[in-house]
Amino acid sequence: MEMEEVDCPICEGSKGDPLHTEGSFQMVQCPSCQFIFLNPRPTDDALIRFYQRYLPEEVPSIESWERMMRPVFHRAANLLEPYRGSGRLLDVGTGFGFFLVEMKKRGWETAGVEISQKATDYARDIFGLTIFPGPLEKAGFPDNSFDAVTAFYVIEHLSHPVAFLRECHRILKPGGLLLLRYPHTTPIKNLLHFFGVKNRLYDLPAHLSDFSPKIIQGCLEKIGFEKCQHSIGGYTLPCDLGKRTSSILFGGCAEALYYLSGNKFLFPGVSKTVLAFRGNLK
Ligand SMILES: [Zn+2]
Repeated sequence: MEMEEVDCPICEGSKGDPLHTEGSFQMVQCPSCQFIFLNPRPTDDALIRFYQRYLPEEVPSIESWERMMRPVFHRAANLLEPYRGSGRLLDVGTGFGFFLVEMKKRGWETAGVEISQKATDYARDIFGLTIFPGPLEKAGFPDNSFDAVTAFYVIEHLSHPVAFLRECHRILKPGGLLLLRYPHTTPIKNLLHFFGVKNRLYDLPAHLSDFSPKIIQGCLEKIGFEKCQHSIGGYTLPCDLGKRTSSILFGGCAEALYYLSGNKFLFPGVSKTVLAFRGNLK
């Protein structure tokens, strides 16, 4: 894979200090804004080729992927319910379209953006969904197009996350809602590193960065999103028994503590969901 060295994707202030390695890949942390990112990272062309074949292609693995994501999609659908407006929703990186199927059932008018041709064909042929070829910036939606934009496990894959968030802001209607689901892995990496446990939790080089709730909120507010609401938002159910057990254990614990703290405590190291509303552009 072709790689390149980059400046911090958030503040462009530094190439970052080494933090963790996985094989030959290195996560660094920006000393100015604390953002954690892969450096060097695959070039944009290499990434586009990679995502053509990133998702599973066999039907049994597509089905187990759906089962894995189902609880998270269900929770997200409930979170969006009060903000339907006229009900136009765009899901970016929609994969096979399972979230859109759920939202269509709930009465939303849905569209998706997807890079993988196989996934796009599946979503169109099996579910009859409207899918635009990605990435989002190339789809060229008019301003103020959607009541809600969602992106599940997308932002950590992007070379230009700030440009992506700006584009989401532009295509949302004023007051429209952005929902992002993202992994937050560094606290667990730090813990495992302390105990000398080798792991590949960052999933490099597929993931280019590791957002924390604080960094993501900072980015959103800088662009003009407001009223950020963080939550745990459920947990995935992978079919691998070990992964499934740890997801239930940590995810369940995170949910319980979030609830007990009056929706405040965000357990470090588990995936999170953030909602933000489109304010005025900054
Ligand atoms: Zn930075």
